[in-house]
Amino acid sequence: MYKVFSQSALTLANSWAGDKLLTSLESREQRDNILRVITYHRVDQPSEKPHLYPGVHSATPEQFATQLDQLQACSHIISLDDALDAIEGRRRLPAKSVLITFDDAYQSFDVAWQQLQTRGLPVVLFVPTSFPDHPERKFWWDRVHWAIHSTPKTQIQHDGIDLHLDSPKHKIDAARQIAAKVKQLPHREAMPWVNALCESLHEDAQPNEVLSWQRLRELSKEGVAIGAHTHTHPLMNQLSLDEAQEEAIRSRDELQKQLRKEIRSFCYPAGGVSAEVAAMLKDIGYTAAFTTQRGVNDLDNCDPLQMSRINVGGRTSTNVMRMQFLSYSRGLKPIR
Ligand SMILES: [Zn+2]
Repeated sequence: MYKVFSQSALTLANSWAGDKLLTSLESREQRDNILRVITYHRVDQPSEKPHLYPGVHSATPEQFATQLDQLQACSHIISLDDALDAIEGRRRLPAKSVLITFDDAYQSFDVAWQQLQTRGLPVVLFVPTSFPDHPERKFWWDRVHWAIHSTPKTQIQHDGIDLHLDSPKHKIDAARQIAAKVKQLPHREAMPWVNALCESLHEDAQPNEVLSWQRLRELSKEGVAIGAHTHTHPLMNQLSLDEAQEEAIRSRDELQKQLRKEIRSFCYPAGGVSAEVAAMLKDIGYTAAFTTQRGVNDLDNCDPLQMSRINVGGRTSTNVMRMQFLSYSRGLKPIR
């Protein structure tokens, strides 16, 4: 039923009538202190990056420009400092406030930053600190994607999972099966599991495409707000609480050492969060932490260590993005 509703909502949002309806609903969004947080990963041309996992492609540079046009027309884009001030009760956010965030520090952030900087718009970049200046350390989802797509093998069995790789559709299905398996394993078992899988597929290793520390220092000086995204990018809820704390502290220490700025915000890799992990982040001094749970945040009534966000994927139209900003949409199923 949810699926039918979501499809209907999508069709409506993308129609002329939907555009008029959205404009009308937006005009009623007058409540202050509601924070919408939008999530991007990569802004690039996916055809130029066949070795990177398309599931974290957010927009082409042209689509990103259109989305910024729309955001500027219908929202109030705020900085991380504004959001932190509001979370700590020093100010209230104006109606229609939006915080733009980028996860993982892919090099293509530079393309987005050029557009944001030209428009004078603030942004937050969440950096997993073990990856800059280590091109040999690839994100597991990019490794698996490219291993599946570049392997000469048409079928393998790995740890009891049968993977068919003889057609594009089967490869997509295989990638989904692998991602589901990785996310359910404790982190210390998941990465060796990925290593063994990629070896058996005769992985054609490519360097990672993460920004260097030099570039991150420059971006920070140019005005990009930086937040922690762990050190090694594990799911925090697949670690012991001690290991999760080590990831949160190490990434903050590394960022503070490199950037000479206080780091107060955190983003959970792949949304892996639990009440215990969120409480631990608060105990060690983080002010805000962001999940992948879809929704908008009422700052008068939310846990700032478990803030919801709205993800932009390659197929997200500007109207679908606008629809998800509405307070009314909080109960809807995620749209991908
Ligand atoms: Zn991430």
